[in-house]
Amino acid sequence: MAKVIKGIDWETFHKLRGSEKKEYFIRDEKIFHIIMPQQFDRPFLDEICELTSKIRGIAKGNKGIAFLQSLLQGKRAMLYFVQPSTRTFLSFMAACQILGIQCSDVRDTATSSEMKGEWQEDTVRTFSSYVDLIVMRHPQAGFAERIAFLLNQISRPVPVINAGSGKDQHPTQALLDIYTLHRSFENYGGIDGKKIAFVGDLRRGRTVRSLAYLLRNYSDVTLYFVAPPELQLGEDLKEYLREQQVAFEEMDRLEEVIPSVDAVYMTRIQDEYDEAGESKRIDYSAYYFKKEYLKILPPNAIIMHPLPRRDEIPVEIDADKRAMYWRQVRNGMWVRVTLIATIFLKDKDIKEY
Ligand code: ASP
Repeated sequence: MAKVIKGIDWETFHKLRGSEKKEYFIRDEKIFHIIMPQQFDRPFLDEICELTSKIRGIAKGNKGIAFLQSLLQGKRAMLYFVQPSTRTFLSFMAACQILGIQCSDVRDTATSSEMKGEWQEDTVRTFSSYVDLIVMRHPQAGFAERIAFLLNQISRPVPVINAGSGKDQHPTQALLDIYTLHRSFENYGGIDGKKIAFVGDLRRGRTVRSLAYLLRNYSDVTLYFVAPPELQLGEDLKEYLREQQVAFEEMDRLEEVIPSVDAVYMTRIQDEYDEAGESKRIDYSAYYFKKEYLKILPPNAIIMHPLPRRDEIPVEIDADKRAMYWRQVRNGMWVRVTLIATIFLKDKDIKEY
């Protein structure tokens, strides 16, 4: 399938750096596809945070709810989620409903013509004819990017949002994490200058990867990567952070870092990606947030988790005001509303409301 767009074929495009791919994800100078965090800059992140707060305010009253509902009435979205997901799926569905968009979904390729040997690309292209937006979760890194690249070539291009691509990226989770950090530190100097510890399976955790990519947009942040050696961050991302001059340190003892951080980002072990049961040989309990850590965690620091959790954070911690993970869930829905409204150029209407 040697297709060429803007003078570039897929193989060449795929090898480009994230920052070079950026221009293929915009249309008339506005964000069109949401594929990877490297495509976003600081003004965009600030804008998303501002708009999300505005939307939350609008949605507090019935008039505002009706206004939001009217913004994209008549539009249709397809949620193509062929990797397990309920929370992100429902979060996007709720975001679409808030904007008056109708949703259809594909959850399992076993019921589609892919079973007849159809290329997945053709399946998605067929579905794209029926809708105005595709939200896609796929086990393969780069699949959403490939679909966005292909859909750019058709006469009726449809925007693609990457809702999680294998071990690689989860850009909308990273954007909601940025919004959560932004809200938490609004009165404490913002995200600039903050120290953030990422804990757990950093090698295979796509939310960590995507958020680390986004944090290069903030000045003087320090990232601590706390993980067992087998699950430390990938070399590609470390290389990126060095290039972008983001300060980071790799560590393996959680309690050492807690007294000096502003945020602790916990993650579960991603054992669905095991090739030979290797997770079973790792003592992951050393990467749990223990109740006694609450005493040494600074009073304005926050605890984050993309969920689902297992035993990384005991339930008793939920009552602590620094536990932010349930807020992250709610913020996620609002950030997705903002992103979809922005793709469909409704940001101006929202600002003027
Ligand atoms: N929900 C997140 C994801 O989709 C985190 C996880 O599954 O651990 O990557």
